[in-house]
Amino acid sequence: MTHVFHRNPRQTLEFAVRSEGIRLFDRQGRGYIDASGGAAVSCLGHGHPDVIAAVKKQLDEVAYAHSSFFTTQVCEDLADFLAQRAPGDLNHVYFVSGGSEAVEAALKLARQYFVEIGQPSRRHFIARRQSYHGNTLGALAIGGNAWRREPFLPLLVEAHHVSPCYAYRDQQPGETDEQYAQRLADELEAKILELGPQNVAAFVAETVVGATAGVLPPVRTYFQRIREVCDRHGVLLILDEVMSGMGRTGRLFACEEDGIAPDIVTIAKGLGAGYQPIGAMLASSRIYDAIVQGSGFFQHGHTYMGHATACAAALAVQQVIERDDLLQNVLNRGEQLRAALRRELGEHPNVGDIRGRGLFVGVEFVADRADKRALDPKLRTHAVLKKRAMENGLMMYPMGGTIDGVRGDHVLLAPPFICTADDIEEIVARFTETVRGLL
Ligand code: PLP
Repeated sequence: MTHVFHRNPRQTLEFAVRSEGIRLFDRQGRGYIDASGGAAVSCLGHGHPDVIAAVKKQLDEVAYAHSSFFTTQVCEDLADFLAQRAPGDLNHVYFVSGGSEAVEAALKLARQYFVEIGQPSRRHFIARRQSYHGNTLGALAIGGNAWRREPFLPLLVEAHHVSPCYAYRDQQPGETDEQYAQRLADELEAKILELGPQNVAAFVAETVVGATAGVLPPVRTYFQRIREVCDRHGVLLILDEVMSGMGRTGRLFACEEDGIAPDIVTIAKGLGAGYQPIGAMLASSRIYDAIVQGSGFFQHGHTYMGHATACAAALAVQQVIERDDLLQNVLNRGEQLRAALRRELGEHPNVGDIRGRGLFVGVEFVADRADKRALDPKLRTHAVLKKRAMENGLMMYPMGGTIDGVRGDHVLLAPPFICTADDIEEIVARFTETVRGLL
């Protein structure tokens, strides 16, 4: 009997007792390749000596100092590192402990910004149906995962949703990427006009969708058109890069690929790579200045914000990624991973789509490739695949998304940036064996 309130109390979990490189080990000494970085977290793999050394050093100096009394050098250095590399003028970094907290901070900052600049009617948030922004109430309210939201609907603030950029399912035959992007931007604009632009605070989107739809990279020009719509109506653009940011797509910020800068971006998982819990929100100078010159105080905060040890871990992680040129490896290994998956499973009758950016790869399973019908949700294929994969010594992240109200089955692969070409082949071999064993 355990006293831990596990999220799935009926599941029996192995104990992780050791970790090294791309593998975790259980009490029997069995190794598991961490091909999903947990949930796209462990981007440097496990047990990296440089990160461990940085954490130890910080613990010896100052483990924690409350942010209302002190700042620390490591917190300042990490903010400098991120702001210097962020697109646009995202110059102001607000540290929190994880992804949901980063999203909550972004929502509250957007709202407070409009209060400060004398536009208090701007209170609506528009997000997308196929999206996940976290489990706290604000983040859950804007998220589009019906199953996660359902029991808590009476507690959620009103939010508005438009279509995601889901080319596999929604792009029409003969429709170019540019036409599809324009259609989606028009839908957002229509929603803003319906609500009244003077009432809309922000549009929130994951740059590359992660946890609801097995990785959805936007089509070319999508975010450029979206940026134009937001600008036309004075609506802030908040990009959630909690999963897709920090190098996962081969760029430090995923939106660099899309050629735009948001007004606010959220990051978390890959920031500290699991060595410490840490997330952040980066805000533009326009927003920051409005607060500084207005009330002078952001009405938000958490006990652990700017946690020194967490900042030390994150700074070490990011410095290693840059020093070892790992983003180039992400691009190379990502291409290899998608090509190898297509080679092995591209013709499988239940594999509908293999897609992604960098080492952020999704596989969508279907009952029928011709009509793209989802598998029977009662079979819980994604969950069974996860279990079978663990038996094969492979960790991959399963997801039941929502396709027109029917839960679909997706698997996310997000291997560590340190993977070699051989590691990728081994991941694909174990993945293929798992899929063929079930479907
Ligand atoms: N936003 C996105 C895009 C995510 O993928 C997640 C987590 O999966 C979150 C927010 C929430 O992050 P956390 O679980 O750290 O609260």
